[in-house]
Amino acid sequence: MIDPSTFRPEDHRRVLIVAPHPDDETLAAAGLIQRVQAAGGTVRVLLLTDGDANPWPQRWLERRLRIGPADRARWGRRRRDEWHAALDLLGVPVGERRALGWPDMGLTARLALAPALWRTPLVRELKDFRPDLVVLPALADRHPDHGAAHVLMRLALAAWTQEPPALLGYPVHVRDVPGARIEVPASAAFMAQKERALACHRTQLALSGGRLRRLIERTECYVPTTPVTAPGVLPWRPSPVLGPWLRLTIATPAGLRTVPWSTLPRLRAGSPPRVELDDPAPRFVKLHTNLPSPWIFDLWGWAEL
Ligand SMILES: [Zn+2]
Repeated sequence: MIDPSTFRPEDHRRVLIVAPHPDDETLAAAGLIQRVQAAGGTVRVLLLTDGDANPWPQRWLERRLRIGPADRARWGRRRRDEWHAALDLLGVPVGERRALGWPDMGLTARLALAPALWRTPLVRELKDFRPDLVVLPALADRHPDHGAAHVLMRLALAAWTQEPPALLGYPVHVRDVPGARIEVPASAAFMAQKERALACHRTQLALSGGRLRRLIERTECYVPTTPVTAPGVLPWRPSPVLGPWLRLTIATPAGLRTVPWSTLPRLRAGSPPRVELDDPAPRFVKLHTNLPSPWIFDLWGWAEL
């Protein structure tokens, strides 16, 4: 467990950075990566997807409207190359880069697959590297792949029997992250190198350059743990109008299940519902609807119970 008042990245020797997409490692942790390595520590980056479901920048840069499976695979290879170029600049050795090639925008669905298809490879990575610090997406991040990446890693960590590493969550697609914040400032030289590393992610700068450059101007910021709500009490009060379409997905070491919101017992009128889970911790729940939407971000996202 990290104490926010005394945390220094240099106190960790083996740091695993978990990136759902190529560029997350740079946006969230380029300064931390450089600080750990400058102090003699080893950083490994674990890339979960190649960011291949990224149609608008691809349409723009490739001047095409229709994107077929071959186009998508080519885009993924391009983004993987950009990731390698950025890690070259950040000084992460080739031997410390792992890429799983899972489908972009498919990490929530991954949780529903057999554990051999996600938990086993993640535990293998943990056993192989034996991190003392894992830097992973914040659970409250509203990009569905980011929240799901947190849950996938936490469930893999629960299945790994070694001394648990310290955890830091990083926000990318969320304004306010609940919990104590840890700022990890970087020197001017490290910040300049972060800018150069971001410039390698040219596909991402095409349509979002302003937003991403503003993002990396900020001091890197982390949350040490996810705040756990009162036992079993869900943190959301969605509009009753949405009731028939709301679903709660529950992910624990025992598996994944989805239940209609309307079947959850109410504490009292107007209160958030409560769920009783006998499963071993950690326990995660996600509120969502089953309505189709062009908006990719989560309205409510995940919470830990
Ligand atoms: Zn991402």
